[in-house]
Amino acid sequence: MARMDTTRDNEAAADAGDRARRFLFEAADIRGESVQLDSAFTEILAIHQYAPGVSRLLGEMLAAAVLLRSNLKFDGKLVLQARSQGQIPLLMAECSSTGEIRGIARGADLATASHFDQLLGDGSLAITVDPRQGQRYQGIVPLSGDSLARSLDTYFTQSEQLGTRIWLAADGQRASGLLLQQLPAQLTTDPAEREQQWQHVCALAATVQPGELLELGTEQLLHRLYHQDPVRLFAPAAVRFQCSCSRERTLRALSAIGPSELEDLLQELGCITMDCEFCNQQYRYEREDLLDVLGPGTQTILH
Ligand SMILES: [Zn+2]
Repeated sequence: MARMDTTRDNEAAADAGDRARRFLFEAADIRGESVQLDSAFTEILAIHQYAPGVSRLLGEMLAAAVLLRSNLKFDGKLVLQARSQGQIPLLMAECSSTGEIRGIARGADLATASHFDQLLGDGSLAITVDPRQGQRYQGIVPLSGDSLARSLDTYFTQSEQLGTRIWLAADGQRASGLLLQQLPAQLTTDPAEREQQWQHVCALAATVQPGELLELGTEQLLHRLYHQDPVRLFAPAAVRFQCSCSRERTLRALSAIGPSELEDLLQELGCITMDCEFCNQQYRYEREDLLDVLGPGTQTILH
């Protein structure tokens, strides 16, 4: 039976809104995580005009980013990027260690397909662990099978020592996901028994329908799948849409362009604007905002 570490009064509230919830099988070395995205997802969709098939894939990508950030052991963010020859040239989702998500389907304005292989055919998936301090790590796998989840399974098979499986679902309003992961042997040391336990929980998870993944709260889902296994469910962690762009960051990006080109742009346009493609925020820079970037001597240029 699913056991809660929150009180009953909090249960309904705990299973609503944008959230991720960890759980632990108490008789096996296996952990899990579920994610439900609601307004965080619709807020992201409201910024763009994506076709239904694109929205669904973006939802799955966002849910996957939240699930994978549970592997972060430090402050930072997890970034998923799918590049393809299909109708979506670039699909991207990020989740920070504090639960802020953002995502985009770049160049997908004309995408109308609903099948995975038409939208993201002949592509690759990059999984980047980007710590605030320290070295970035990136793994790349081909987009394979007929879904993002199966492509991620390939990544886990290649990169993780311990078994990891993922299930994803999204419609135009919600996105959900489920992750199962083996833990180092502690409770069960016999390899055959360990493998049997892993196959057992994965076989049950594989019976979940996309509609169930979207409809059911974590507690209901765990009851539906694992009512015969003791599972400990932890309090939810909030997830929300928040873009990480800022005036300082766009200014840094501008400084990479080079003073003479900036000077040309200023003369041509009068000011320089930078739009964030994730949230549509516009940053506007006048000449006096760019003096540091333009460098010494540029103030003396006469018009
Ligand atoms: Zn932004």
